[in-house]
Amino acid sequence: MRIPYIAGNWKMHKTRAEARSLAETLVRDLADVGHTVMVAPPFTAIETVAAVVSGTNILVGAQNASSALEGAHTGEVSPLMLKDLGVSVVILGHSERRHTYGETDQLINAKVATALGESLNVILCVGETLEEREAGRVDDVVRTQLEGGLAGVDRSALQRIVIAYEPVWAIGTGKTATPQDADAVHGAIRTRIAAMYDERAADELIIQYGGSVKPGNVRDLMAMENIDGALVGGASLKAETFVPIVKFNA
Ligand code: PEP
Repeated sequence: MRIPYIAGNWKMHKTRAEARSLAETLVRDLADVGHTVMVAPPFTAIETVAAVVSGTNILVGAQNASSALEGAHTGEVSPLMLKDLGVSVVILGHSERRHTYGETDQLINAKVATALGESLNVILCVGETLEEREAGRVDDVVRTQLEGGLAGVDRSALQRIVIAYEPVWAIGTGKTATPQDADAVHGAIRTRIAAMYDERAADELIIQYGGSVKPGNVRDLMAMENIDGALVGGASLKAETFVPIVKFNA
């Protein structure tokens, strides 16, 4: 039984005061939700949000983490520092990290290993560009990102991994993959995980969809067999849109 998992990626938005206000509203409005809920504020607001959601059903995530634990890494943030703030999960391999900041599967894999080594949970993002989709390379790209990102991750650690399928062309564009298209890729991800690990691992894996998820499309997406949750960008910035997404089945 896979428990639905809805996560909000606030990206580079919100001062501490703005973040506190949104977190307080979410704590109030989501108190009765039974599935997994996470918000990932910018680094500067993590401590503020963690204090608000502490002891509630909302987890605090980070949008990135260093592959190193400490040292001469100007501008990086260590998993140790994130844990110290109350973070329990990190988003790694987001397409903006891959495509704007040049993160490779090798670097993402090193980040995954370091985060897991510090007992953090990981949301590993994969997804193709429009060009890759049009060239018929979706399975190929997603397979490479999965195998690259999960290299060396053993079966027991897989329980702390969530995969987010985020077609790059659907992120922040208002274009959503159809539930059927997304489900087909999610099914292929599950098949690949079964080949890399085993059927049970594939069956238990939570696979989120991300890419312009809104209150109006979340229900149809979540109705698909292989879609277990959502990673939400723009619509997670306001309670008016994030709350109904989280309560998709209310
Ligand atoms: C994201 O950045 O992970 C994302 C899915 O963004 P949006 O919901 O705005 O498309």
